[in-house]
Amino acid sequence: MVMALPKLEDASALEPTLRQTRVGRADFNPNLASGLRRSQVPKRTRVTRFVAPRSRRMDCWLQRDPKLYVDGMNLYEYVTSEPTNAADPLGLFKAKYHLEANDQALQSHMKSWECRSLVNSADIDVDLYDLFSPEYHFDADTFLSAISLLNGFKLSIEALDKEVDPCDCKYSKMKNVLIDFGKSLHVYQDFYSHSNWVEHYGDTSSVPQWDFSSVPTWLTSGYFLSVPPGKLSHGDLNKDHEDSPAGKVQYRQGSGFQIALMRATVETWDRVREFVKLAPNTYKCCNED
Ligand SMILES: [Zn+2]
Repeated sequence: MVMALPKLEDASALEPTLRQTRVGRADFNPNLASGLRRSQVPKRTRVTRFVAPRSRRMDCWLQRDPKLYVDGMNLYEYVTSEPTNAADPLGLFKAKYHLEANDQALQSHMKSWECRSLVNSADIDVDLYDLFSPEYHFDADTFLSAISLLNGFKLSIEALDKEVDPCDCKYSKMKNVLIDFGKSLHVYQDFYSHSNWVEHYGDTSSVPQWDFSSVPTWLTSGYFLSVPPGKLSHGDLNKDHEDSPAGKVQYRQGSGFQIALMRATVETWDRVREFVKLAPNTYKCCNED
């Protein structure tokens, strides 16, 4: 069926508002490409597509998927018509991996929809705003700098939480606590999809000790831009998609994708438990009736 789409030249059609796009009803992210004005897209960021703003049907893209069929046969379909549990910040592939890892841990520990939504958005936005900072994705063997980044997030979450008054839950005060938490989750989750941890341990349930004083010699991660000799590319190791080469490899417990997602989910649970201690005021506000 041919849909009546607004013309690309129609600038106002490319400035969808939150309500018009209806993207991500459950976890709406105002910063996704689908909700972004062209002028708001940061330089150096390749936002490839915009969502049709006034579509009455499930949201759909104005341009074909440049990655072609990674998300199915319909090149215009937005996150395979499941915008409530997936998002596609770059217009390339759906960011289901991160949202699935967050799903259960957040549902059962944060009653507030706004809190969950903000954490999810911040997590996904790391691929939009920090795409070229490898330590945000455990790319390019940046293990030690990624870990110091994570420690920085912890300190900042603790400090920002002190400004939140648990008797007067102002969303504006909690916002930065939750954004830092969401960003840190992204980094932890990418460790499993971008490094060779899963390949090395396969079916065992080893967990990383995040206080690595030195990086184990076997541990490596994919390089996004130029790949040094003897190293692997991002595409060689990436397991955040069922159909990626490393995601498809079968182990006894399941595919590389499934194991990475399982480990990322367990990690997210642990991090949420840690958050309860790091940010008791925000935690209380996010669980109020
Ligand atoms: Zn990432």
